[in-house]
Amino acid sequence: MPSLDRRRFLRDAAATTAVVTAGGLASTALGAPAQAGAPTQAAPAPAGTRRSGRVSFRWWGTAGWRVDIGDRTVLVDPFLSRIDTGLFKGALKESTPLEVDTSAVDARVDRAETVLVTHTHWDHFMDVPYIAERTGARVFGTLTAYHLGLAYGVPSAQLSAVKGGEVMDFGDYTVEVVASLHSRNKSYAVAFPGVRVDPPAKPATIADLPEGDTLNYVLRIPGGPSVFFMGASDFAERNLTGISPDVAMVALNSTNVTADYVPRLMAALNYPKVVVPVHFDNFEIELRNPPTVAPADRTQLDKLVAAVRESSPRSRVLVPEYDTAYHF
Ligand SMILES: [Zn+2]
Repeated sequence: MPSLDRRRFLRDAAATTAVVTAGGLASTALGAPAQAGAPTQAAPAPAGTRRSGRVSFRWWGTAGWRVDIGDRTVLVDPFLSRIDTGLFKGALKESTPLEVDTSAVDARVDRAETVLVTHTHWDHFMDVPYIAERTGARVFGTLTAYHLGLAYGVPSAQLSAVKGGEVMDFGDYTVEVVASLHSRNKSYAVAFPGVRVDPPAKPATIADLPEGDTLNYVLRIPGGPSVFFMGASDFAERNLTGISPDVAMVALNSTNVTADYVPRLMAALNYPKVVVPVHFDNFEIELRNPPTVAPADRTQLDKLVAAVRESSPRSRVLVPEYDTAYHF
């Protein structure tokens, strides 16, 4: 990571880092304004332009986000259990049990009304049924997410299957669903491929959570930013036509099998003002700053940042830290 960005990033983080206590997010951290005089990566909109009060985005590692829009909370791919599957030790254990770390979830999820799931791999979905039960949030995802949710006992009234193309109005924000693609490994294969067309038995291991097709989401806030969320590093280029988000949360490509990943994505998104890499951290260790990045992923992250600079030179790249409130 270029040192300038790192420095700017740390300075901003110091100004806006949410305070995490043993009891969870300190209430003062929610919506806490950036300190005057501390430049932020993204300038806040003029006061009074938003219907819904202050908007903040906090990264929770992997592709996970908490978005607070006034007193309303949207989560994207919330994964806080960060179980050890051996993935980052080069020995993925497919029989790893899906043990939700309820204290880790409870510490950050005091509320949520909408949960957006990009796909149903464990590092995106395994905490979602617990979060749905804890908060009463409505969960949006593929038909596979719907059936897996039922398998966990989530009421059907809290599960909304979507396909891509939907534009849904929540009053203070809208959500557009975009049909997308999952990333591929070095063998051009997708981990745990497959869908669920009926509710299966309750999932017990990570192998019981198939990819289930992949979606992206565009969150638009009237008077605020439009933000594109990715959960995996591939996309259907033609599905992005006309979206033109202000901010793009871009999943790290851990391999190079997707041709021209960054240049095609930047062009398809019409060169977003801010590009935020995600899913670059080691997500099997404690959620603590600075994020730990495996050496191979560090190399890929540096390449991704360089590729954004090259293909979209007017975009600002923001490499996020955990739990830090960003205002775009
Ligand atoms: Zn995945």
